[in-house]
Amino acid sequence: MHLSYGLFCRWRPFYVVTPTARDRQSCLCKMHENGRLLFLKLKQLGKLCHDTLDDCIDKGFVCDDPNDSCYLRECTACAEKIVAASTSDEVVKWSQWETEKHEIRLYTGQCKNVSKLVKKTKEGTESELCEQFNNFFANVLVSHTYRIRHQFAEYCKAKKGTESHAVIICDFSENYANKFSRAPQSTHFGASQQQSTIHTGVAYINEQVFSFATISDSYRHDPAAIWCYLTPVLRWLLARCVLLTAIHMFSYGPSTQYKNKTNFFLTSYYRDILGCELEFLSWNYFESGHGAGHGKGAADAIGGTLKRLADNNVNKGTDIPDAVSLYSLLKSASKVCLFYVSDAEIKAVDQVIPSQLSPVRGTASIHQILSKGDGKLKLRKLSCFCTWPDPCCCYRTFETSFPPPLACKQDDTTGISSDMDVNTTPTTTSAEISDPPIENVECSVKKTISKPYPLVVITCTKLFIYVKFCIMNPNTPPDQSL
Ligand SMILES: [Zn+2]
Ligand SMILES: [Zn+2]
Ligand SMILES: [Zn+2]
Repeated sequence: MHLSYGLFCRWRPFYVVTPTARDRQSCLCKMHENGRLLFLKLKQLGKLCHDTLDDCIDKGFVCDDPNDSCYLRECTACAEKIVAASTSDEVVKWSQWETEKHEIRLYTGQCKNVSKLVKKTKEGTESELCEQFNNFFANVLVSHTYRIRHQFAEYCKAKKGTESHAVIICDFSENYANKFSRAPQSTHFGASQQQSTIHTGVAYINEQVFSFATISDSYRHDPAAIWCYLTPVLRWLLARCVLLTAIHMFSYGPSTQYKNKTNFFLTSYYRDILGCELEFLSWNYFESGHGAGHGKGAADAIGGTLKRLADNNVNKGTDIPDAVSLYSLLKSASKVCLFYVSDAEIKAVDQVIPSQLSPVRGTASIHQILSKGDGKLKLRKLSCFCTWPDPCCCYRTFETSFPPPLACKQDDTTGISSDMDVNTTPTTTSAEISDPPIENVECSVKKTISKPYPLVVITCTKLFIYVKFCIMNPNTPPDQSL
């Protein structure tokens, strides 16, 4: 039957749909995508006998009965293996994603260097393409793939446990743009466009699952902010699950957020921050570019659900002008455990971080840090729970220690800080220490009726005084937040 292409398309069955912008895959890993581009080109040229990228890795570049060292490129038997071979001088073209440095001029006239990821067309002989493929797989993609699988397997292993330890997966949701149900046009632009930070996560303890989120008026996503967002969550979990002795954190590893010397420092002193007798805390990092789809999606889903719920309420006429309103609204409308942290509280954590922290060697390749809260940290390039709950020394574990936290200065606006010496254990009662800030705050309650205000001192650590906050919002009854 002869049929025009237009007619063929029009008569397609209803379940064959055209791709839309939403079907694009836009969160791919650069390394995997470059590997795939090389693989597809060689496959097209008929130079590969393996059907998939994973086949090339698992059957081509490692021993027949592979172990850790084959994938980590430490086995001498398979280190020299190649998969693609050609002696042809025929010129071919292929694509690769590359990072390029660009200089941009700011509106102030200053110049700034930025990195741009661009898709470039490469040209070379067939033998050069084969060489690039072999080098890239052997030196980069094989170990990268192994780390993705290993970290996810350890995450699954850690999740299967007793009531004595929790696995927490956390991530930042994209900031929520605060909205009014009706607003003049200029509120959408520049400084008028206010946002709220949402740090989300899921905690797994034995068979129980707890979803949580911390909302803040701060735009900060750095370690001091992360620990502020996490502290009320961890304290709430520890109060709820009294058998808990260890927590394993899992996150993606961007160097500005979770994987850097400041987070290592704060993790090493978690007891001082949390003010709880938690015996052990580990922080595990998924391989870069592979948090999503490997468990981290659970944290993403919470952010999506909360933002959709907030938008639905805006559509029905509720105003969400700031982070406090977002928190109050979601607290009453959602089942996710919600916490609120103000920008001022994060500044209190800043004050305990020494300004000159030494960087930890090989930070980028570290995938697990282990702490007992005493300022010391064990680090290694892959997570391991092989002898858990006893510690193991696999993957060339090494140790480092950090200087003690600085004593923080008193801050009347939040009432969460202390001016105690870090080297002395507090012996005074919380009421004695906290009397002055509480008085100050009570005076300010009338002025800031919709902002959270400190109500009762719960406990004090070497670094902080923990205070129960209250929100007086005209729309919601007084409610505790911390
Ligand atoms: Zn990848
Ligand atoms: Zn081998
Ligand atoms: Zn081990």
